[in-house]
Amino acid sequence: MNQVKMVIAGPRGRMGREAVQMVLKTENYQLVGVVDHKNDGKKLRDLDGFPQMDIPVYSNIELCLTEVRPDVFIDLTTPEVGMYHTKTALTYGVRPVVGTTGFTKENLAELRQICEEKQLGCIIAPNFAIGAVLMMKFSQMAAKYFHDIEIIELHHDQKLDAPSGTAVKTAEMMADVRKTKIQGHPNEKETLAGARGANYEGMHIHSVRLPGLIAHQEVLFGSEGQTLTIRHDSYNRVSFMSGVKLAVDTVLNLETLVYGLENIIE
Ligand code: NAP
Repeated sequence: MNQVKMVIAGPRGRMGREAVQMVLKTENYQLVGVVDHKNDGKKLRDLDGFPQMDIPVYSNIELCLTEVRPDVFIDLTTPEVGMYHTKTALTYGVRPVVGTTGFTKENLAELRQICEEKQLGCIIAPNFAIGAVLMMKFSQMAAKYFHDIEIIELHHDQKLDAPSGTAVKTAEMMADVRKTKIQGHPNEKETLAGARGANYEGMHIHSVRLPGLIAHQEVLFGSEGQTLTIRHDSYNRVSFMSGVKLAVDTVLNLETLVYGLENIIE
């Protein structure tokens, strides 16, 4: 089997560390470099908690891509940096797999256009946990029949964006099939700002941030005399790695941008 050469951006982050371990453990994957804005010129072995390996560390993505020529670029950083990295990878003909959340619709449209011009694959997935993707799919099925919906997403308190990419993606998927409805009482009034959460086409999204949590989401459906709750919990970041692998293996054969893992699992 051919070796897939990979670069990971954000290797010292919580997701990045798991991704490095996953790539190093996978037989046909080869980690050829990492992009880390604070450790230019060092080797992976110089970073805290990493194996004794000679893999080069770059702070300059352009130099990294020119020197190590990967097949796939994995980004697990922050939205602005992730957008810049993804555009740069595509410019260098490298296929990105992006787990970084917080990309805007405009970001996605711009990247889609570049992918189509260059006939290059790119996968951006706000949630790599297969169970979370199924939770989104099941929620979309339920939204056909239940039009009153509230999403509660719960994450650790170091998360930068709110609501989570997964919550927004779930709301988008449900809005595609749900009869448009403004929920709650027509004269509803918030006596404390934000009490009803964010509003996505009438559905409400509530973001909880607490230490101790990783990534969790509950979608609540209500109708006359019944409720339905669909819930997914990621208890550690290893839960995302089978999805990252699936995305890496899939992106090699894509010539367009795919947003969301649900579009590549049956
Ligand atoms: P994190 O622990 O804060 O890690 C982010 C890393 O990015 C940090 O190590 C940071 O380094 C690094 N970074 C910042 N600017 C950089 C740059 N210019 N070049 C290279 N690295 C840079 O966050 P995390 O929990 O790992 O999450 C990372 C991203 O993945 C977030 O957007 C998060 O929402 C998302 N996420 C996605 C999934 C999914 O399934 N798709 C799951 C969990 C999280 P410094 O700290 O030194 O600045």
